[in-house]
This record gives sequence, structure tokens and C-alpha cells, in this order.
Amino acid sequence: MKRLLVIAAAALTLVAHAQSFPGSKPISIVVPFAAGGPTDKVARDLAITMAKTMPGANFVVENVAGAGGTIGASKVARANPDGHTLLLFHIGMAATPALYRKLSYKPLEDFEFLGMVNDVPMTLVGKPQLPANTYRDFENYITANAGKLNIAHAGLGSASHICGMLWQAQVQSKEAMTTIPFGGTAPAMNALMAGQVDVMCDQTTNTTAQIESGRIKAFAVTTAKPLADHKVLKFYPSLQEMGIKNFNLTIWHGLYAPKGTPAAITTALNDAMKKALKDPEFVKKQESLGALVVTDKRVEPAEHKKFVAAEIIKIKTAVDASGKYAD
Ligand code: ASP
Repeated sequence: MKRLLVIAAAALTLVAHAQSFPGSKPISIVVPFAAGGPTDKVARDLAITMAKTMPGANFVVENVAGAGGTIGASKVARANPDGHTLLLFHIGMAATPALYRKLSYKPLEDFEFLGMVNDVPMTLVGKPQLPANTYRDFENYITANAGKLNIAHAGLGSASHICGMLWQAQVQSKEAMTTIPFGGTAPAMNALMAGQVDVMCDQTTNTTAQIESGRIKAFAVTTAKPLADHKVLKFYPSLQEMGIKNFNLTIWHGLYAPKGTPAAITTALNDAMKKALKDPEFVKKQESLGALVVTDKRVEPAEHKKFVAAEIIKIKTAVDASGKYAD
């Protein structure tokens, strides 16, 4: 009898959570990079779209930039697990445990997985003043100017850092370009457009409009094959075609809650996310920027977690082999 009562009480608590969530308190989505960048844009569009199917939900995006996304991720790992503080993070969720040996969170232990959002190719881009117009010219130019150029990224462990590092490893020695870290690729993009930095590798969601309007130059995409169906990006070769062996980099984003967030809440959030990923406006916008919304089983929390676990192993193996860490 006592046991039954306990079970009944637990069930009632679950129902209460489901009914009271989101309540009147805002749901903060922490973006661990600067406002206006690719991670921020996904978070804001996702928040607007999820709100359409969550009556009363009031999403706010909070930018907690720094240290390649690790400051924002730590903040969410320690937040109250009540569904009102979430994290939108990219591949860095799997890369930071490999790159930072002293990390204050463990992705697989400190978070509830709420599903993956999108896959985004990257582009190798340069300031508009660069004299090169093709990838070959660009590579010749950076070789001829070794030691004089710089490359921007969003902090150690960020997608732009990983991409630049992998690419540079095959074209020249690491010392040949100075790396300039920013709190996100939004401020890095401003510096690139203004000619204050020379090169960057960033997600298509942050580069497509600038490439189209001629405010930056593009030289290659990071997917194995060119993006033949994209109206702006189809004109650029893949790095692999240009001789960068096995280069195939796509950035993914996922949504997380602190560990211990009640199941009724994570389910409600995952349901709203799944609906958002089917929202024609959201899908169209992502596609126009070169990204693809996740349509496979990675929208399920368990599959999302499995995917991140596999990525952690893959990236750790590569980082340990290189011996290059962020701390
Ligand atoms: N996506 C960027 C990167 O990791 C960070 C950002 O969203 O600003 O390079």
C-alpha cells in the first residue's frame, strides 16, 4: 500500500511538472558564443519556432561567450534542472572534452540530451582585399606570405578553430599563420569584412550572405563533395577536391538541459523541437543558408546521446594523436 502511494505521488509530481512547465518564467537558451554568429542564429530561430507550439513559452537567448564555448556549457551544467536553462551547443560539445584536459563538465554525465537540430557545412573564406579568387591562387598566396597572415576563430575548441587547424595541418606549418581568437564568429566576421583579419573557416549559416554580397571571398567548402544544389555555395570546390586529404567536416548542433531535469519537461521540450524541425519556415531558412535540419533518428534524445558519445571518441583519438591541447 505504502509503495503504491509512493508511485502515485511520483506520477502526480510528473503530471504537475508537465502541467506547470513552462509556466510564466522564461526559458533561457544559453549560446556559448557571441550574438549574431552561427550558433546564436540557430538558437534564435529554434526558439521562435519552438514557441509556436508551446503555448505561453517565453524563450530568451543568453550569450555566454568565451573559451571555445566551455564557459557557457559549464554554466548550464550547473544550472537548476527545471527546464528553464538550456544549452544550444555545436560539435564543441564533443570536441571540448578532448581539447581541454581540465573541463568542469562531462557531456555524457552532466546533461540531458534533447535532440539534435541541424548539420552545417563550413566554408573557407578570406577578407575581400585578398588578391586570390580561386582556391589554388589562395593557397599559393598564403604559401608565398607564410608568417604574415592571420586566421580568426571563435576560441580553442570552436568549430572555426577545429576547421582551421585541420586545414592548416595539410597546407603549411602551424606557425605560418597567426591565430586570432574571438568570442564567436560574429565579431570575427566583422573583422574579416573590415580587412582586419585575413582568413577564417566558418559555417555557411554565417558566411553565405556575405559571400553572396561580395563582402568576403570564398575559396572552398569543407564537405567531401561540393554543395552542388546551393545557389550561392555551388560555385566553390570542396577542400578534398583541392587535395586536402580526407577533409570532410560538417558542424552539428544539439539542445541540452542540465542533468536531472524531470522527464516530463525534457519530453515536452523534445516534442516542441521535433515540431520545429518540421516547420516549413524554419527548414527553408536553414536550407537557404546551406544547413540541413536533422530528419533522422538523432532527433531522439537517446540517439543524440549515442551520436555525441561516438563523436567524443572520434575527436579524442584525433586530438590525442596530434598531442595538441587547448590547456
Ligand atoms: N560557430 C562558431 C564556431 O565555433 C561560434 C559561433 O557561433 O560564433 O566557430
